[in-house]
Amino acid sequence: MFCNQCEQTARNTGCTTVGVCGKKGEVADLQDLLVHALKDLAAAAIDARSRGVDIMEAGRFTAEALFATLTNVDFDPVSFGNRIDDAAGLTSRLRADGSGTATFVPEPTVEGKIAQALVIGSPWDTNRDDDVTALQQTTLYGAKGVAAYAYHARVLGYEDPAVYEYLFKVLAAIQDTNLDLGAWVGLALECGKVNLRAMELLDAGNTGVYGHPEPTAVDLGHRPGKAILISGHDLRDLDLLLAQTEGLGIDVYTHGEMLPTHAYPALKKYAHLAGHYGTAWQNQHREFEAFPGAILMTTNCLTPPKDSYKDRIFTTGPVRFPGVAHVEDDYAAVIAKAVSMPGFTDSTQGTTVLTGFGRNAVLSVAPAVIDAVKSGAIRHFFLVGGCDGAKPGRNYYTDFVEKAPADTVVLTLACGKFRFFDKSIGDIGGIPRLLDVGQCNDAYSAVQIAVALAEAFETDVNSLPLSMILSWYEQKAVAILLTLLHLGITGIRLGPSLPAFITPAVLQVLVDNFGIRPIGESAEADLAEILG
Ligand code: SF4
Repeated sequence: MFCNQCEQTARNTGCTTVGVCGKKGEVADLQDLLVHALKDLAAAAIDARSRGVDIMEAGRFTAEALFATLTNVDFDPVSFGNRIDDAAGLTSRLRADGSGTATFVPEPTVEGKIAQALVIGSPWDTNRDDDVTALQQTTLYGAKGVAAYAYHARVLGYEDPAVYEYLFKVLAAIQDTNLDLGAWVGLALECGKVNLRAMELLDAGNTGVYGHPEPTAVDLGHRPGKAILISGHDLRDLDLLLAQTEGLGIDVYTHGEMLPTHAYPALKKYAHLAGHYGTAWQNQHREFEAFPGAILMTTNCLTPPKDSYKDRIFTTGPVRFPGVAHVEDDYAAVIAKAVSMPGFTDSTQGTTVLTGFGRNAVLSVAPAVIDAVKSGAIRHFFLVGGCDGAKPGRNYYTDFVEKAPADTVVLTLACGKFRFFDKSIGDIGGIPRLLDVGQCNDAYSAVQIAVALAEAFETDVNSLPLSMILSWYEQKAVAILLTLLHLGITGIRLGPSLPAFITPAVLQVLVDNFGIRPIGESAEADLAEILG
């Protein structure tokens, strides 16, 4: 195996025997083989599209298959074997009109596919210039993030064939040895543009189906009763779970990136959406073990479950783990497990955090915010957030928020906020100093807030008193970073370490053109530099 797609990759170069995430070598090899099969499918889809053939099924399949290869999503070799067969089957059907035959034919068994993966090898042509490989990896990993957002939007009924066409374009490009560095820079920035569209679709889906988030206090405690914990990102899964548990005397608690779902009108209406339990994904072993009920894991952020709770955690959507029960839309098994568990016997309610400061909520108070900036009451905005991870060095983000001066406002999003989400840092004239915009999936909302503020001040985003201090962990963060670069946003501070797949020459391009820099040794020093 060779995998370097996330921030925790071994020795900051690549995982080669087993993933730091727990992914086994055979699964990494099958993921590579799936990408190989998807390249074939992409070529067939591009050809079919040129002949006016509908490619939506191939697009949906490709988005979900790429999503499955994200960090902490699918650990199951059987699942990848099935996806590889399905990719080859779709390719054959698209080729069935005589436009050529599929060049890749998978072995029938999982063991055969693992052996085949070893023969076909890594997606990366190591004979090429390292910088080209770095940009290929940046673009494919970003495209995986796009695929995740496209999947999330599609399950809510929102999709755009242009997003799928870009995924095909990237997959086809990886096997085109004629593309040089400049072509790959273009494909990487195009990834950012397409990701903006995918995030726009997801934003339209989330707000169209569940309403605009409203500022909402979320209880961090629990109350006596049977309980189900839902983690991951998918609002539709939560909606289904709430509808299926209504009136059963079971409380539903959110975990990790599900915290902002409490702010959506169509979800917060359920009285048994009882509160938020725990923190970010990397603490799930301890937090899931202690939870006295059933657990439903949606979308990404699963880590290999401990035996102590393996019989009461369920996966849904693209998430899979060998030996863990998988459910789709019907949560009867999850409910039955919760009923068989003791649930909470005590009450710890009373401590709350605020969420729900999406673009609609923030922009509804834009005049007050603008007045506060003009009067000097607000000196600076910081966007502090992104994917959280387990490596040391992430206390920087906690320090940064705690040490940010009292005349500054912190916008946050994604699970990076769990480093400081329960800190009381006060308000400025009634405007909370800590504003939770939402999940990593809500990065579109943060972009819209920045663009609207720039318009109000008749300037551009780079001229606003706004600095972005971002953390990254997996491939959705790569897609978001490429979107920020596509929008021309400069001066982003990124940490805790830079991606292993970025070469010094590519980093220099990012520094020269976008002013990207690593976070510094100390939050205090960075704050002093930013605020001058
Ligand atoms: S996803 Fe990250 S931790 Fe897992 S194998 Fe790949 S680089 Fe390693």
